[in-house]
Amino acid sequence: MSNRCCDRIELRGKTMTITGGCLCRDIRYESISEPIVTRICWCRVCQYLGAGSGTVNVCFPTASFTVNGATRDYRSIADSGNVMHRRFCAACGTQLFSEAEARPHLIFVRAGTLDDPEIAKPAAIIWTSLAPSWASINVKIPKVDQQPPPAA
Ligand SMILES: [Zn+2]
Ligand SMILES: [Zn+2]
Repeated sequence: MSNRCCDRIELRGKTMTITGGCLCRDIRYESISEPIVTRICWCRVCQYLGAGSGTVNVCFPTASFTVNGATRDYRSIADSGNVMHRRFCAACGTQLFSEAEARPHLIFVRAGTLDDPEIAKPAAIIWTSLAPSWASINVKIPKVDQQPPPAA
């Protein structure tokens, strides 16, 4: 556990606090860093999590991200071999986070859980090759057929 008090003082002026949580509010989170990048993902797993749609994922640095409340964790192994953890609220079922064991410094937050979803500004749409023909895909956002290079 880092000393959040000191982090705040050190970062004051450069950052804002971004907050969010699940539907039932059992789980709340905050980031004192701004997002690194936001991507929309149409991979097959995201279609399950997104109820048929792609997911919108906002990447934050883990070091300045705090979660309050106990999440359930669905662990799986991606095609890349990465061990993935997808965390959700056991009470209301809201999907909150995605994390790769290979990149522990990053946490991907499901944009719908942000108190202000406007914060998510998608820079890319990934895995468009797996999107169904009826998918609504914004033509103004760059597309990547499959997995892009890591966020950071
Ligand atoms: Zn909940
Ligand atoms: Zn995906």
